[in-house]
Amino acid sequence: RKPSPFFTPGPTTYPGSLAMLSLKRDLQMPVVLQTPNPTDPTASVIHTRFGSFPHTTLLNIPWGSQVIASQQSKRDAARGKKRKRGTADAAPDDADDNDSPVFETASSGFVHVLPPTPELWTAGLQHRTQVVYTPDYSFVLQRLRVRPGDVVIEAGAGSGSFTHAAARAVFSGYPGEGAEKRRLGQVFSFEYHEPRCESVRAEIAEHGLEGVVEVNYRDVYEEGFTLGPEAPRADAVFLDLPAPWLALRHLSRTEPSPLNPATTTRICTFSPCIEQVQRTVTTLRELGWTSIVMYELQHRRLDVRRELVSVAYDGLRGVNSNAASVDEALTRLRHLEEKTMEFHGKGKDTDTPAKKEKKGKDAVGRDKQEAIRRRERELQVWKEGRLVHRTEQDIKTHTSYLTFAVLPRAWSKEDEERCRKKWAVKT
Ligand code: SAM
Repeated sequence: RKPSPFFTPGPTTYPGSLAMLSLKRDLQMPVVLQTPNPTDPTASVIHTRFGSFPHTTLLNIPWGSQVIASQQSKRDAARGKKRKRGTADAAPDDADDNDSPVFETASSGFVHVLPPTPELWTAGLQHRTQVVYTPDYSFVLQRLRVRPGDVVIEAGAGSGSFTHAAARAVFSGYPGEGAEKRRLGQVFSFEYHEPRCESVRAEIAEHGLEGVVEVNYRDVYEEGFTLGPEAPRADAVFLDLPAPWLALRHLSRTEPSPLNPATTTRICTFSPCIEQVQRTVTTLRELGWTSIVMYELQHRRLDVRRELVSVAYDGLRGVNSNAASVDEALTRLRHLEEKTMEFHGKGKDTDTPAKKEKKGKDAVGRDKQEAIRRRERELQVWKEGRLVHRTEQDIKTHTSYLTFAVLPRAWSKEDEERCRKKWAVKT
């Protein structure tokens, strides 16, 4: 079994591994790293808007490395093409050509090569449907109390965004590696759109997550979630479906049940409109689910940075007009420095002895001390920049309502008898 780079990426990149090329904040490109093809070196190059990156420059380097863009020389590319076509009119200098392609470093840009995580995968994946974003799935998995070793049912799989996050949350080891002793964490994912189902399945295999995620092609409204007599035995359920209430009737404790009879089952349904929530809540009540709560997440990212305070800053009196030119700005800044130095008694000494004595007396006064501190704070802001924050305009989450509920564990006659004996009051 190849280990999943999502769980055990190792210290360096390697051929066949999924890597996330971080082009800039919020721009990630997933790439499966390949060993170069000797017959066509031009084939194993990733082209981005920040330059070209041959796979050779990305392989066997520590994760997190910064790689500078390279550009395959046109001459080399032409040679590669000729070699590929196998034409007799090979370039005359082919004789002294070694087989490795020549890449010329260009100053166009760079990427960081990062190991895959569910967050980066969500940011870079190909959208086949609406997806659940990181702020939502973090909250969902935490609220469902999903832990390593748990079994999670997910429907529909869609683009596989939630699937990857759930896989990491339940991962407790691979089958056949002693993980059974702990209980193997698993995600049972359901999708009724065949091409989508195939795409998620292929990605799961490519990412080495097959032992942890099982993707099932099924209409869960009609056929439910039961997979043979023993599976899935789920502890938690996440439904991202247009009509979750149609699937709820398949999540009862009546055998054969897809739920773990030994644990309390937690559920979350993800719905974009309140009418859907109402229908879901009604059905949950009818089917005996308890602790029903609905949340709406309003996720905002705050962009916090220091902003240079221009000379127009009027924190210090006397420099509060806009500068027309760089020279004027510099003159004003010098003036500002001088005034501040003077204020601290380090500037030009123009005071008479009587004035100095009076200043000395004043300096011990509380007002004066406070004024000094205020002036120092202002100067600090001017030097370091003012701390400002803005909310991000483009919020990467679509408004949805998250409905949570709990189904108590199964309660048998034997359980009742056992508890009666245990807690019986002796008279
Ligand atoms: N949670 C997914 C993600 O994070 O990428 C996105 C799910 S997408 C919004 C909803 C998916 O549910 C679609 O792919 C759709 O084909 C699937 N679906 C809808 N009805 C279904 C049903 N009855 N059984 C199984 N899948 C269904």
